[in-house]
This record gives sequence, structure tokens and C-alpha cells, in this order.
Amino acid sequence: MGKGEADIIIVGGGAAGLMAAIGATKMGAKPLILEKMPRPGRKIMITGKGRCNFTNVKDWFEFSPAIRSNSHFVKPSFQNLKPVDVLDLLEENGLPYVIERGGRAFPASYKASDVIDTLVRTATRGGAKILTDKEVKSIDKIEKVFHVCCADGSEYTSKAVIIATGGLSYPSTGSTGDGYRFAEALGHKIVSCFPSLTALVPQGYKQSQTKGHIDRQTPLSRFGQSLIGLSLKNVQISLYSGQDLVQQEFGDLDFTDGGLEGPIGFAISRNAVKGLLGGGKMKVVIDLKPAVEAEKLAARIRREFPMPPYSYGNILAKLLPKALCHIFRSLVPEPKPEVLAEALKSWTLPLQGYVGYERSVVTAGGVDTGEVSSHAMESRLCRNLFFCGEVLDIDANTGGYNLQCAFSTGMLSGMSAAASVVRD
Ligand SMILES: Cc1cc2nc3c(=O)[nH]c(=O)nc-3n(C[C@H](O)[C@H](O)[C@H](O)COP(=O)(O)OP(=O)(O)OC[C@H]3O[C@@H](n4cnc5c(N)ncnc54)[C@H](O)[C@@H]3O)c2cc1C
Repeated sequence: MGKGEADIIIVGGGAAGLMAAIGATKMGAKPLILEKMPRPGRKIMITGKGRCNFTNVKDWFEFSPAIRSNSHFVKPSFQNLKPVDVLDLLEENGLPYVIERGGRAFPASYKASDVIDTLVRTATRGGAKILTDKEVKSIDKIEKVFHVCCADGSEYTSKAVIIATGGLSYPSTGSTGDGYRFAEALGHKIVSCFPSLTALVPQGYKQSQTKGHIDRQTPLSRFGQSLIGLSLKNVQISLYSGQDLVQQEFGDLDFTDGGLEGPIGFAISRNAVKGLLGGGKMKVVIDLKPAVEAEKLAARIRREFPMPPYSYGNILAKLLPKALCHIFRSLVPEPKPEVLAEALKSWTLPLQGYVGYERSVVTAGGVDTGEVSSHAMESRLCRNLFFCGEVLDIDANTGGYNLQCAFSTGMLSGMSAAASVVRD
């Protein structure tokens, strides 16, 4: 299937790879992207429920706490391409945007495909070439030349390579962890990977006794069926490992076909999955009435619902969403205000497992950032080899932070690779 040559080969045409190509072309290089899927940016298509929350307009001080691993590593690339720079870059290339609550940026059309089109157009206008249906199988460095071999038998050589293959999440988009294999073959350590921003499965929620990874497709139990669709607003969730409090979040929680999701479910998922993988007895305690202390809540129940005329069922119906009434009826069989108030403030769900890469938003872990220069994204072990995006041991919360990290590290890797080609 032939041979080809390029100054820079970018393996993977996702968010990071496309931005790397833009960075390289800015410096006058003509990079070649090899993308294994029929079209670039497949994962971008499903981001933000198809609307693509492509960045979060915050300065470093506010942005960095959302990065859950190695934020110090991201800092130089972030300073080189900030969220406002991403807005400007996309707007200059024909993409109007809107900023929503919390600084989250979306294309004005709310179409993720417009973000992909803009990135592809900007990269190719600058001189980048994108080849699709090109699954890279191996990357070798022989003397100063990289040899990149594809599944179709074609081989490409280059002076520099950027690995932008993403993580393991949603493998149907093309992200199947190939980059870890390439990095290891070139001497790099991989920090253990696990799914993050994923559904947590409470004990007995699914028809499965399995602990740990519980496939999203596993049918719900009767308990799960009674809760699916429930959305709790303004509640507090506390994650425990045994008796130790690990994390506490306030906000909205959803019960889905996967398990616990929604903003605060996702926010605790990284620590929960890590704990479960480490063999910890993880549980969540949900405070359904976080604005009021237990004593005051008990007094309020006593005052507002004198019995009769209220039946216990009526009281529960006034205090709780319908789906939770029968659960609390069995947790607190007698209508005792103190006991009920305590139960409402500490609904405890032991965790059985979590939904895996098949539906997790990001992959935690990846190429060890200690072996990569944060100022150039270049390998410290293999000259002219670069990394960017989720393949690195970087992951962040929801809210546009992950794509911004992919864009920042992508841009810097592309610019540095272009400089390295001139350097050597
Ligand atoms: C459902 C969902 C919703 C999300 N929503 C948001 C959001 O709204 N905002 C946000 O900031 N983040 C969001 N994310 C996270 C974000 O999409 C990722 O963090 C980001 O896409 C990572 O970019 P990347 O380029 O590093 O990897 P990817 O986007 O995964 O791109 C990697 C590319 O490399 C290609 N590739 C892999 N192996 C090979 C190979 N061997 N040869 C050639 N090509 C290869 C893949 O096909 C893929 O195109 C979401 C993720 C998911 C799953």
C-alpha cells in the first residue's frame, strides 16, 4: 500500500491531534495526520451531548483545580494557548460561539460537527494533510528516522512523531489505547489507567453480583428500576472509603440506566473508581436536605405534619420525590420525626462497582508526565517524539476542561515538533 514521507507525523486526528496540526502549520511545517477512523474527530461529535462544550473560559487560577492529575504539567501549554485563545482561533476561522453558565463555551450552532469542520479546515488550509482509515500499528525509531507502519501495509517515515491517540473511553470512536503501546515500545512508563467521569453502581442496583466493572448494558434490578429517571436537585453527596470521608460535593445527582450520574455523581467518580479498584469499601451518603440540620428538620416535620390529619405516607410524599417514598418507608417504618430526619440526611448507598470505558467520559492515567517536557511536550527519553491530549496522564472534570487540555497540549506539541524539525 505504498510509502510516504513527512516532516511530522501526527498519530490520531482527534481534538489534540488536529490542534497539533494547527500548531505545526503556524510554524510553517506541513504535518501529516494518520487517523484510523473514516473521519477525524469522531469523539468530538459526541461531546457535550452533541453540542460540544469545547472550553471553559477561566484563568489558570480558576481552571487548574478542575484538572485532576498533573495540573502543574499542563500549565506551560495552557499559558501558550488559553481558553480565550481557543475562542479567538475558532472564531477567526469561522466558528461563532456562545458562553454559558460557569464559563462553558459552545459553538453558537450547538453542533459539535461545526467544531470538527473548523479544526479540520484550519489545519488543512495551513498545509496539513489528513489521511483517514489509517490505523497505525507500530512506531519505530531507527537512527534519527521514525518508521510508522499502518494496518493496511503502508509505511510512513518522518523526523518527528506526535502521539495523539487519546485514551480508552468510548472505543467505538477510535480511542482504544493504542498510544500506550507505542509509548511503551519507545521506552515510556504508563501510569495505570482507569475510567473516570463514569456512572457509579450502588449495591443491588443491577442484576449482577459482580464487583468492580459492571457493564452499562447489565439489566437493572427492581431497586434500580424504581430509581431510574430520578433527578435530585441541590443535594449533598459524601464519598467514604470505610469510615473515612474522601470527598464531598453539593449539587445535582441523577439515577440512570448506568447508576449514579449527573454533575456530583461524575465529580466523585474518579475517587470512587480508584477506591474500588484498590479494594476499598466505598459508599456514598446522600443528604437530601443539606440546607437544614437534623434537629431542625425533625422539629419541622413534627410541626408541619401533625398526625392526624397526615398519614405517614402523606408526610413522606411531602418530603420526598415519589420514587424515594417506599425506600424511606422501609428504612424508617415508624413515623418518628428524629429518626426520619436523620435518615433523610444520611441515605447510605454502598457502591458495588462502576461503568467502564464503554461509557466513561475520560480515561485517568496514561503516559507518565514525568518523562515528558511540559514546556515542549517532547519525550525526555526519545528525541523528536511528542505527546498530547488524553494519552497523557491528564484528566479533568466535566465543563470543557478536558478539550481545553487536549487543545493546549496539542498546540504546544505541534509548535515544538515544527521547531525540532528545524533544530535537528
Ligand atoms: C461522551 C463524551 C462526552 C464528552 N464531552 C466533553 C465536553 O463536552 N467537553 C470536554 O471538554 N470534554 C468532553 N469529553 C472528553 C473529550 O472528548 C476528550 O478528553 C478529548 O476528545 C481528548 O482528545 P484527544 O485528541 O486526546 O483524544 P481523542 O478525541 O480520543 O482522539 C484520539 C484519536 O486518535 C485516533 N487513533 C487512536 N488510535 C489510533 C491509531 N492506532 N492509528 C491512528 N489513529 C488512532 C482515534 O481514532 C481518535 O480519532 C467527552 C468525552 C466523551 C466520551
